[in-house]
Amino acid sequence: MNKEQIVKIFEESGALTVGHFLLTSGRHSSKYIQCAKVFQYPKYAQQLTKELSLAFEDDKVDIVIGPAVGGIILAYEMARCLNAKSIFSERENGIMQLRRGFSIHKNSKVLVVEDVVTTGGSVKEVIDLVNSLEGEVVGVGALVDRSNGNIDFGVRFHSLLTLDIKSYDPDSCPLCEKNIPIIKPGSRKINGV
Ligand SMILES: [Zn+2]
Repeated sequence: MNKEQIVKIFEESGALTVGHFLLTSGRHSSKYIQCAKVFQYPKYAQQLTKELSLAFEDDKVDIVIGPAVGGIILAYEMARCLNAKSIFSERENGIMQLRRGFSIHKNSKVLVVEDVVTTGGSVKEVIDLVNSLEGEVVGVGALVDRSNGNIDFGVRFHSLLTLDIKSYDPDSCPLCEKNIPIIKPGSRKINGV
């Protein structure tokens, strides 16, 4: 799968949209990514995870783990491709941990996955969790890398798509200058600017 085919899946599923968006930070952008939308369609999820799993097929992965909520379906589909076990981590009282009877045995080979990596904070917490249980983190996989190359997890990191989404100060937004209606993602409301 080449980059254009991957982008096409994100666009067709509505996960990647182009327009004029009001971000929660108050800044404006011309692109918006909502990765969960890809997972509305098992067919697309399967195609993307199959592609991502190729990067880790020689790692003899025992367990794929993702942080809830974004990493749950991805971990499951990746585990299917890699013939591994799938689990997810959750925060309890702010601390990333395994619940629901999930476990990681000592020296298990563990792949950490996340749908979108921006700061990498959640992924780092999962890596620390796996290390604390004496599992071996063999790598990190993500559908989308928005970190602009600013992250070092200390293990191999592979993403399907690298997105550099520029954001603008509302006072100097080129999209506002063109009078393009602004959309607040998550709502269908369009505000004229
Ligand atoms: Zn604007």
